Order: sequence, then structure tokens, then C-alpha cells
Amino acid sequence: MSEVAHLESKATITNVGAVLLGKHVACDAHDESRPIRVVTHAHADHMVGLGKSLKNCEVSVMTPATRDMIHALKGPRWLGRGAVKTLDYGEAFIYEDETLTFHYADHILGTAQVLVEDKEQTRILYTSDFRYSRTPLVEADILVMEATYGDPFRVRPFSMMVEGILISLVEQGLKRGPVYVFGYHGKLQKMMRILYEAKIKTPFIVPEKIFRVSKVCERHGMKLGNQLLQFDDEEAQLVLTQNEPSVIFYHSYSRKRVEGEALCIRASGWEFTKPCRKIGANEYVVALSDHSDFNELLEYVERCNPRMVITDRHRSEAANIFAREIEKRLKIPAKAAPK
Ligand SMILES: [Zn+2]
Repeated sequence: MSEVAHLESKATITNVGAVLLGKHVACDAHDESRPIRVVTHAHADHMVGLGKSLKNCEVSVMTPATRDMIHALKGPRWLGRGAVKTLDYGEAFIYEDETLTFHYADHILGTAQVLVEDKEQTRILYTSDFRYSRTPLVEADILVMEATYGDPFRVRPFSMMVEGILISLVEQGLKRGPVYVFGYHGKLQKMMRILYEAKIKTPFIVPEKIFRVSKVCERHGMKLGNQLLQFDDEEAQLVLTQNEPSVIFYHSYSRKRVEGEALCIRASGWEFTKPCRKIGANEYVVALSDHSDFNELLEYVERCNPRMVITDRHRSEAANIFAREIEKRLKIPAKAAPK
């Protein structure tokens, strides 16, 4: 067996998106053959089949913050159907002849890169989703990568400017009244932190689920300001009925329609030409992403310098292109999985 073929036998991604590392671990989707289920973070496409894993796996492993996020999203009893083990960053979990550790990833609260070391001392790493600039590099022989923006055209040269643009848009909008912000769990809280750090002191008003997720973020050290209110709060109702300045946050999937003159901001990672784009009379998209762009993904691979790379095609169509670019530019064997 060639060296690459030998390495390939130690990691793959299944048709349902389970990232298999070593002999025992399945990350981010259920796999019947694996006793250990890992949840790298609480986004839905990384909790695939978690109910089945809770029922059938020996243990489901996640960071304490990810456990708390899942509690907030699905209710406190949801995880109680199975054995859950929380693992802090850097803490080791030994299962037979393999060692599992989590490493920090800058994505949403609780996100972990997953490292499995087997008895031949092969280091098998799955990055999960990450933003490059604040994610520590982990050394690895086999690198399993997210490839969301794995196409060379997916670059954001302006990413440093986006936070400032978000702040000034919100400041402008607040002069007229409420401002509506749409985004995903995790990204919404990041926007709250950016606005709070910019000393925007108006109330932040949110639906119940976003309130629960925000409280988890605060418990784990994020500073989101001290004016976070749920829609049902009397104080929130007063602010809303009087059309006072406030920032109102909704999930991207919400069907809430913003009426009148109120400013509406949507956060999206799929913006590459400009940091901010006007899409309606009072509506803007800001290019705020929780993922690395193409150049950053490639830089991670280059600095990691693994013996082979697997790109995640289950979660990104760009995985084939990214694998080809890695081979062409870095001369490191790479392939997308599943086929
Ligand atoms: Zn994610």
C-alpha cells in the first residue's frame, strides 16, 4: 500500500457528512460503525443525526459551550437522551489506542478543531468551520478541511473594513428609529459584541431563542451589553410601540418583514465584491463571514503542511476545486470526500 493510500484509510467523509477520524470517531453526522460522536459546534449542518448518535453511540463529545448552545437551541432535556461528555480545549480523551483532543476554532462559540492521534502517532485533524485569523494552527499528517469558500474566486480583500461599516450603518439607522439585523446563531451575537464595543447603547431586542443563545454566549465570557431584551419584556414593548431607537435581531431564516423607513441589515458570507451592498430602499447586505476565504483556507494548508488533505464535499460544492488547487499550488496530495 502506498503511503497516501495508507493515510487515506485513516480518514474520510461519508455520504451523510460524517467526518470519520481514526477508528472510533465520527464528527458532525451519525455513523453506525463509530462508538464516539463528536459535535464540533451547534450549527445544524454539524448536528446531523445527533438524536441517533445519542441513542446508539457510547458517548457524544463536545465542548461545554457547544453543550450549552444545544441546550439553548433544543431545550435542556434534548441531550439527556444519551451519554454526553464535555471536553475542554486541550484536554485529552483516550479511547482504546487513540487520543482525542479539541483545539480552539474561531467560528461560533464553542467551535472545536478535532485531533485524533492513533497508535502509529499519525495526527488526523478536522478543522470544522473556522475563520483563519484567530484560529490556531494545529500540526497534522492528515488534514480534513472545510471548503465553504474553496473556490479561488471566493476572496474578501476588504474583510477588515466590514465591522466599521456595520457600526456606521447602524448608527445612521438609529437616527431614524429601530434598526433590524438578520444573521445566523453565533454571528448575531458577534454583531451584538461589535455594536456594544462601539458604544451603541440602545436596547438590543431579540426573539426568545436568540435571547437564550445570547445568554449562553454571555455565560461563556462574551460581552453583549446590558440592554438585551426579549420581545415579550414590557420594556421592549414600550421601546417598540414608541418607535424608539433600538437594534432588533432576527435569525436569517425568519420571515419577519421590515416595514416603513426602518433600516434593515443582513449579514452574509457570500459577498465578495464589496464589504456592503445596497439591496433595497433601506436594506443592505454586509459581508460578515464566520468562515475563511479561499486565500485563508489555502494558507492554513500551507502552514500546516500535512502529508495529505481531504476537503469536505458534503458541506461544500467547492471541495473538488479546492482539492485540485491544493495539489496544483502546494503539491500536497488532496481529494474531496464523499465522491
Ligand atoms: Zn458553522
